[in-house]
Amino acid sequence: MGIGGLLKSLLPYVLPYQWLLVATLALTFVGSLMAQVNAVVLDRAVDAINDLLHLEEGFQWSDAARILLIVSLVLLGKEVLAAVITFGQRYFGEKIRINVSRDLSLRVVDRILTFRMAYFSADGNEPGKLQTRIDRGIMSLSNTVKNFFIDILPLFTSAVLALVLMFAANVYVGLVALAIIPVYFWITTVQGHRMRGWRHRVFGTHQQLNHGIMNIIESMGVIKSFNRERVEAAKQAALQEQSTDQQMQTRRISFIFEGLKTFVEQIGTVLIIILTAYLVLIDYPGMTIGKIMYHVLLFSNVSAPIRQLHRIYDDLNDALVYAEGFFGIINAEQEVEKSGEWKVTQGQRIEGRFELRNVDFTYPSGTHAIRDLSMTILPGRTTALVGLSGAGKSTIVNLLDKFYAPDSGTITLDGVPLSQWNTEALRDNIGLVLQKNHIFSGTIEENIRYGRPDASFDEVVEAARKAYIYDQVMALPEGFASNALQLSGGQQQRIAIARMFLKNPPIIFLDEPTASLDAIATEQIKNSIDAIKQGRTVIVISHNIGQIIDSDMLYVLDTGHVVQSGTPSEVYRQGGLYKDIFDASARSMNVDKIADTLA
Ligand code: ADP
Repeated sequence: MGIGGLLKSLLPYVLPYQWLLVATLALTFVGSLMAQVNAVVLDRAVDAINDLLHLEEGFQWSDAARILLIVSLVLLGKEVLAAVITFGQRYFGEKIRINVSRDLSLRVVDRILTFRMAYFSADGNEPGKLQTRIDRGIMSLSNTVKNFFIDILPLFTSAVLALVLMFAANVYVGLVALAIIPVYFWITTVQGHRMRGWRHRVFGTHQQLNHGIMNIIESMGVIKSFNRERVEAAKQAALQEQSTDQQMQTRRISFIFEGLKTFVEQIGTVLIIILTAYLVLIDYPGMTIGKIMYHVLLFSNVSAPIRQLHRIYDDLNDALVYAEGFFGIINAEQEVEKSGEWKVTQGQRIEGRFELRNVDFTYPSGTHAIRDLSMTILPGRTTALVGLSGAGKSTIVNLLDKFYAPDSGTITLDGVPLSQWNTEALRDNIGLVLQKNHIFSGTIEENIRYGRPDASFDEVVEAARKAYIYDQVMALPEGFASNALQLSGGQQQRIAIARMFLKNPPIIFLDEPTASLDAIATEQIKNSIDAIKQGRTVIVISHNIGQIIDSDMLYVLDTGHVVQSGTPSEVYRQGGLYKDIFDASARSMNVDKIADTLA
């Protein structure tokens, strides 16, 4: 993305504030005029005082006082006006920046909420990376807006005006001032090139340091249990050392170039003083002694923006890098769902028969998870998916919930292809309980109510009872108002199940729902799931043989393909993978000894 592209992408976000923009620009222009007042006033004052000094009859103190009074009044008046203008200009400029930053955030949130799950599992779209792209993007884009309207424009308008005034007073002095500018630009560009590599290195090390510290905090238990505190500290020390070196290096380069630029600026000032003094001495038309001050002050207005050039150049380079990542998210068109072709919309009653025919699916990361898979999920029945880890069981649930679309083959629900189902309508009908369920920061009540936002408190309580979590919630000091994140993994699991009870959907997907529960809780959950199963379409994924043998139908998967199917007892009699899994499971549970103990 070039600067043109960057500004073009930003334009739609700045345009809504066009009146603010016009006001800011108008103030900018007036402010730039004000910036030249000092030079003009000093020029006149010096000349007037000089004239007084050379009066043959000697000067009157009252005349001198009059000059000084006018100078004071003009300068003070100008300062007051300039303060008001600067305030207005900064305030409006900031207002634009803050509003643009808010609009960019809202837009990106809107966008990512519409993306398919595939987007989030694509390489480079991991949560941390997305977050960095969004954060950095918004920060540097809104900075670009600020740089442009609050910093660059006023400074450059003032520089151009000052240059015009210098030329108007004397072409030669104007030319000298103008000649310094390319030298400045050249030094800034060289500085930019020298700094760029370093800045990226500093940024990279900084990210590594942050990541390292996060890692230490997250792995504290492991670090302590292995007594690896010193190893971790040494790793950090090495990174810190590197970071210190890099920072010093960038500072060194930066100071050298800043010094160089100040030197060039001083040379410019000296040249202008010499030239103006010479012109005054040879009595060049229009060149009075006041012009020496005049030109020096104007020249400092010319060089002021150029001194800032390097910072703005850096910011702009950053913005170009981050804008690409940021607008990449906003413009990821292909990820958005197409609406308008839906045959099934919300509110329709559903039967709950899924048919999968020759489905193939590959994750965006390249894992070919489902291969030529066909199966029927009977309505009102419980179907179990069995297979070793990584066989593709969860992927099937992902496909049925339309989190991902298959590469080929068809999936229908009640005879209608999933692609023609209104996604919201589909998901309204599905309850999903995963092995690891997400608990939002907030109260237990809020977390359960996520299943149905308009549920009454009594309904929330009822759902908690069905999920066997009610007693434990009531034992907490704040009951349902307690923070849900303080619950144990097993308790959080039951909050997720309560959420599903509240939603009360006709189709239920259970992906290892009891994997993190203790034996008592597992039994309680099993009972309540048995109760809710009645008359609903249920798909259960479990390593728990006890849950599998209760199913009406069973599909055994191996590397994304169905290898066996039928009722649990039929499939067991066939032998094969299911029998292997079943027998291994029974052996690992020590079924013989359990039977002896129970006898
Ligand atoms: P199961 O549920 O049977 O353990 P999964 O359906 O989770 O198996 O995984 C099937 C295959 O797809 C595995 O190889 C797994 O590594 C891969 N996989 C699962 N989820 C993702 C994902 N979000 N992105 C990329 N690959 C994935």
